[in-house]
Amino acid sequence: MSYQLTIEPLGQTLDVEDGQTILDASLRAGFYLPHACGHGLCATCKIRVLDGEIDHGEASNFALMDYEREEGQTLACCATLQSDVVIEADIEEDPDALNLPVRDFEGTVSRIEDLTPTIKGLWITLDAPDGLRFQAGQYVQLNLPDGSGSRAFSLANPPSDPREVELNIRYVPGGQATTWVHQQLKAGDRVTLSGPYGRFFVRKSASQPSLFLAGGSGLSSPKSMILDLLADQAAGGETLPMTLVYGARNLAELYDHDLFVELAAKHPHFTYVPALSNEPEDSAWSGFRGFVHDAAKAHFDNDFRGRKAYLCGPPVMIESCIATLMQGRLFERDIYTEKFISAADASQQMRSPLFKRL
Ligand SMILES: Cc1cc2nc3c(=O)[nH]c(=O)nc-3n(C[C@H](O)[C@H](O)[C@H](O)COP(=O)(O)OP(=O)(O)OC[C@H]3O[C@@H](n4cnc5c(N)ncnc54)[C@H](O)[C@@H]3O)c2cc1C
Repeated sequence: MSYQLTIEPLGQTLDVEDGQTILDASLRAGFYLPHACGHGLCATCKIRVLDGEIDHGEASNFALMDYEREEGQTLACCATLQSDVVIEADIEEDPDALNLPVRDFEGTVSRIEDLTPTIKGLWITLDAPDGLRFQAGQYVQLNLPDGSGSRAFSLANPPSDPREVELNIRYVPGGQATTWVHQQLKAGDRVTLSGPYGRFFVRKSASQPSLFLAGGSGLSSPKSMILDLLADQAAGGETLPMTLVYGARNLAELYDHDLFVELAAKHPHFTYVPALSNEPEDSAWSGFRGFVHDAAKAHFDNDFRGRKAYLCGPPVMIESCIATLMQGRLFERDIYTEKFISAADASQQMRSPLFKRL
């Protein structure tokens, strides 16, 4: 059984299966609705129901207050249809968005290896011959083997290589998905995932120098974005300055270091600034010592004007970087973030207090 959903102001109509959320149906049809936590906690996906009956599902009372429900609002990530429905959503056109529809994939683990003591590289060869079409910076939802849910992981491979996806997964002690990946998953195992998700991609149409700020396994998206930009340029695209500031705790946690040193040596317009926050004083490390935002501030002499910044990693790193960028005169419209929020983070705080919206 399915119902019809009409999305205003787009005027587009699509089928929604019984029990399927408005958000899932929209993304699978290639219509992007703003969203973030995906679990009814953050209210980023709040929409207005203009006509028809919906079930609010698991929407939390904090994210969707009683009076909002009475006024006809709901959360697209939880709401299911009880009849044909018309909604109004706050949809922003983005000239760089390809709006690729979300699809389900099956694949086989082709490789899994330690990138650092806490981060594993996971390579999955997809069954689909055409692979996963995505924009560099986007992420997938990797399904847990027992069917108990999925977790978001950013794609680290460039879109030019759509058949074998690469994920960089940091171990979270006690974490369901990361314990499975780190302690049980092996080459040859079958996995399922869906994607592509997210609006974290390079705004190529802006023709501005890019600044990538990454921490820990947050290197995944910037790696894909940088490899994609370099491929564009090799194919005759515009050559603009690019800088990667990448932070890890210590040398053992710094991965793909040789790759970026090599890329910087080969491409004069690409600069690589590694930063270690907790490397022993007596080690041979001669690079920057401190956090990512401090390294960026020092490298750019606290002046970030004229750039587009792409921030990827844990929430605390993102907040520090946003504050530093704003002090250095780079503001909201030029800052894009991918926060590696967990369920616990999502229930506490989803939006940067420094931004009106993300
Ligand atoms: C858009 C997006 C992209 C992401 N991309 C990546 C990626 O490329 N690589 C990657 O490693 N992770 C990424 N994450 C985080 C990932 O989705 C999981 O949240 C994380 O791996 C933990 O999953 P888990 O099942 O092991 O832990 P869970 O079972 O979900 O959580 C177990 C416990 O650990 C806590 N916890 C969960 N995550 C963290 C954390 N990061 N730090 C501290 N405590 C935590 C939880 O609050 C909970 O108490 C991304 C998240 C988002 C939203």
